Amino acid sequence: MGREDTQNSIILNARIRSHPDLIDIACEGGIITEIGSIGGDGIDACGRLVCPGFVNAHTHLDKADLLLQMKPSDFGKSLTENRELLKRFKVGYEIEEIRKRAKRVIREFIANGVTAIRTQVDVDGTGGLKACEALNGIKEELPIELQICTFPQEGVLDENARSLVEQALDAGADLMGGLPLVEKTEEGHMQHIDVLFEIAKKHDVDLDIQLDESNDPRDFMLPYLIEKTIECKWQGRVTATHCISLSAQDENIIKETSRLLAQARINVITTPSANMITRFDLPEGIHSRPSNSIAPLIHLVDAGVNVAIGTDNIRDIFYPMGNCSMLREMHVAQASTRMCDQNAPQRLIDMATVNGGRILGLNYGIHEGAAADILILGCDAPSGVLNGPENIPMVIRSGRLVCESSREVEYG
Ligand SMILES: [Zn+2]
Repeated sequence: MGREDTQNSIILNARIRSHPDLIDIACEGGIITEIGSIGGDGIDACGRLVCPGFVNAHTHLDKADLLLQMKPSDFGKSLTENRELLKRFKVGYEIEEIRKRAKRVIREFIANGVTAIRTQVDVDGTGGLKACEALNGIKEELPIELQICTFPQEGVLDENARSLVEQALDAGADLMGGLPLVEKTEEGHMQHIDVLFEIAKKHDVDLDIQLDESNDPRDFMLPYLIEKTIECKWQGRVTATHCISLSAQDENIIKETSRLLAQARINVITTPSANMITRFDLPEGIHSRPSNSIAPLIHLVDAGVNVAIGTDNIRDIFYPMGNCSMLREMHVAQASTRMCDQNAPQRLIDMATVNGGRILGLNYGIHEGAAADILILGCDAPSGVLNGPENIPMVIRSGRLVCESSREVEYG
């Protein structure tokens, strides 16, 4: 079932935040065409809260469920060790096997209310273009928006690595990812970003760069990313994923950097659970805190930065857990940033829905003209979203009910 497979439908008795009374929502041709008192036959929301579908703005479907193939000695390693370990798995990659794991996990995401995913997909000398080919081939198979971001896990500075990324973009990948830290020197980190912008401009694609993943304040590439975004006139087309070390800066630097991010219209994606668990090799004599940290979400949102949420890895080398729940990520985001004021529940819902939609270029929201990707939640107010069971009663994609009480409807 591809994205063109839409259905005309009406959602009855829905509660939405912009309306004091219960309303009905008509969907036609994959978009919301009317909101008001419509009546007739339809999907009954029974007065429960309705919101746009969840957008998982950052995950790695090519690695999902590699946990099942791991040996006991593969667990508990640092980020650098994990990157080496990954190569062992990638050498043996087979397209059909990648697809099988990815599709299984996509189905779990759908059951958890996810209607759109941006997946990072490794493109490098070890796995070549296999993972990209695997994911490209299933884009239209399931009722979900799937966006593919080429991820140069092993760097972009040599000619071969760069050529592979360009081939992936020519073969249909949607945008370009990056990982400056994988280059060996500080100069290399900056050159990595320079090359990403060169390729992005040549292929006219957006950028989504993973950077500043540790608590170490010296690990701080964001200012350079902001500078390059302005220099290359790529405002509105760049996303910075993780941005953890921003939390380790002085208050004034956090505020100023957040202001500059908003000005350059650079989006930020946080992946809370995986961010907390990531472990770095530290110089001798320096001891890690019990956990890593996450980006300073409150400062960023207050400054007007568009912040979205991703689950990051699902059950693999980098993160051996994960149940495909965006609600779980929203909760960790809230707890790890002390986001506890009255507006917090709605802010978190926005991060997990419309803000992610904006990054993926989707028109998400509960208004006329928006995508008919809609969730009927198990509560009647935003404050209930994170305080109840992690169950999304109904998931609607392109106007069609695709999942009810975590059970698939009419597909696969
Ligand atoms: Zn990631």
